[in-house]
This record gives sequence, structure tokens and C-alpha cells, in this order.
Amino acid sequence: MAELSDRQRLALQRQLQELREELNKLLDSSRQVAATVVLDQTKVGRLSRMDALQQQAMAQANRTAYRRRLQKVEAALGAVDSGDYGYCEACGEAIPYARLQIKPESDLCVNCQAHEERGD
Ligand SMILES: [Zn+2]
Repeated sequence: MAELSDRQRLALQRQLQELREELNKLLDSSRQVAATVVLDQTKVGRLSRMDALQQQAMAQANRTAYRRRLQKVEAALGAVDSGDYGYCEACGEAIPYARLQIKPESDLCVNCQAHEERGD
């Protein structure tokens, strides 16, 4: 598999930096919702409380996903700096540019990712 050109690596680094910024913003803006159950005082009773709790649970789940993705993005940016970016962590093969464009924080090739998801 072809290795990344300097230009491709640079484009992906930029993409990763934007992703990091976006994720940080999402984490910032969702902090409030996740932390407190805001009750709508115009509605009374169980239903509005359940809505609020559901909203909170959703915000917390989203934040967990953002945080996990941010970790991968940070790790990928670190790999760009150390020159290890774009190689599969499991088998060492170069990860295709097309895959990295879709998911620049990928640290596994398609094959190894599939193995991991199957759990073997
Ligand atoms: Zn691999």
C-alpha cells in the first residue's frame, strides 16, 4: 500500500486539528446539559422530569463518545509529530489515504479494524 505523501500528511494533520477544535467545542457546549437536569417549570410532573433525565443521559453518552474520539485525534496528532502517522498499529502496513480522509484518527488498517470488531 502506498505511503502518504507530505502533502497528504499535511492535509490530514490540518483535518485532525480542526477535528480537535470541533470536539473541544462540543465538549464545552454540552457540559451544562450533562451536568444538571433542568426542569421546565411550565410543565409539571413525571413526564417533563423524564424528558430532562433522558436529555441528560444522551448528553453524557455523547460526551463520552466525543472524549474517546478526542483521545484518538490527540494520539494521531502525536503520531504526525513523531513520524509514525498513517501506519497500522497492529500490522504496521500503511493505511490508505482514502481511509484516513474519512477518519483521520484511524490507527488501524481496514483488515485489523475488522479483526478487532470481531474480537479475534
Ligand atoms: Zn493492520
